[in-house]
Amino acid sequence: MIPRTPLHAWIAQLVGVGPEALSLEHVRAWQLEALRRTLDHAVTNSPFYGERLRIRGDDLCCLDDLARLPFTAPEDLRRDPLRLLCVSQGEIERVVTMDTSGTTGRPKRLFFTHDDLEHTIDFFAHGMTTMIGSGGRVLLFMPGQRPGSVGDLLARGLRRVGATCHCHGFVQNLDEAVRAVAAHGSDGLVGIPSQVLAVARHGRLTGMLRPGDVGSVLLSGDPVTPALREAIAQALGCEVFVHYGLTETGLGGGVECRAQAGAHLREADLYVETVDPVSGQPLPVGQEGEVVLTTLRRRGMPLLRYRTGDLGRLLSEPCPCGTSLPRLMVRGRGDTGVHGLQSAALDEALWPLEDLSFHEALLTDQDGTDILRVTLWSPTQPAHHQRLLDEARSRIKQTPGLREAIEDNSLRLELGMSEDASCLPPPGKRRIRDLRQREETSYLPNAVWSIAIDR
Ligand SMILES: [Zn+2]
Repeated sequence: MIPRTPLHAWIAQLVGVGPEALSLEHVRAWQLEALRRTLDHAVTNSPFYGERLRIRGDDLCCLDDLARLPFTAPEDLRRDPLRLLCVSQGEIERVVTMDTSGTTGRPKRLFFTHDDLEHTIDFFAHGMTTMIGSGGRVLLFMPGQRPGSVGDLLARGLRRVGATCHCHGFVQNLDEAVRAVAAHGSDGLVGIPSQVLAVARHGRLTGMLRPGDVGSVLLSGDPVTPALREAIAQALGCEVFVHYGLTETGLGGGVECRAQAGAHLREADLYVETVDPVSGQPLPVGQEGEVVLTTLRRRGMPLLRYRTGDLGRLLSEPCPCGTSLPRLMVRGRGDTGVHGLQSAALDEALWPLEDLSFHEALLTDQDGTDILRVTLWSPTQPAHHQRLLDEARSRIKQTPGLREAIEDNSLRLELGMSEDASCLPPPGKRRIRDLRQREETSYLPNAVWSIAIDR
């Protein structure tokens, strides 16, 4: 029997009905009222929404009416984010400045009040009880020094349920990270999927971690492919849960129950739609589309129909855990990749290699030929590396779309081993970096390139 997601009792309490009586209709009715208040708050107090919206909360008859509102785009958070602000700057407790990509080259900025952060802590406190009980010790491979950072909010949430959280920060050195697991216990590890797998594999391959040393794992920050989930579960011999969240969702967004089949959403704070990425038309539940989110209680900077760029689908059938709350399965970003190759496909091809702890790919060019350069990390003896490179090369060449590009000589494949098996590149969105067009000054691993070059 799979225990019901703790988010069921959480939303039942907020809606004001008993957990056994709670239905999705209760939740939707509560969300409609919250949406009406948010819309009025946004239109009244934000110049951005006030100028573009001619609709008020009372005009919304049902949640489907939300489709009458225009989308909010990531670019709106870059161009002039202060225009989306709905409270005085003195009421803002935390400002998050994000990546500087996008057409304006400016960073996205998001503003949160004390209450906005409090709602995130409350969600973390309830959501984490899926995997952690009172007295549990959690090790977080994300930053937590700054008040209002993800680690700080998670630690505060865990304290409320009698658990503790040690913030290690992003993984830079795998030996140190594995030692942190031993030192800070680990009823639960939380981190970016590829970093957690690197720690798990590195720990197992060096003999520093054994199955059972970690109670469970929560992955966040990047989409999780089936091969990656399976690889972590095998290396650590534990349950693996997925969390979906963005800074825009208020860091926390949704978390899987023990059925591990899609994330139950933070229904008190988010209303999620999926839309056709091209036409923007809302899609029926069950169909994959772009994830669009609307915040329901955010005061500082509410987001109305914000386009995330993530592709996912909502599942409405009752969850095996026994709740009628829907789930969201996110597949990843809607980018086209290079030569038809997406980072996730490369991950699926390479993660089954058990001697591999990490890999990174980039696209470059030389004399008019594109080169896919893949660096592999492995703490195994150098004598094993040639076999690992051969296996990786053979698997990459079978990746859909890539075989054709390699065969018609429009793409050359180069593989090398990272010279330092313990040192990971700085974390970032998992993707194949394209260095062909622009000067990209980010980290390039030192690798031995001479070993395996395909023609
Ligand atoms: Zn469930």
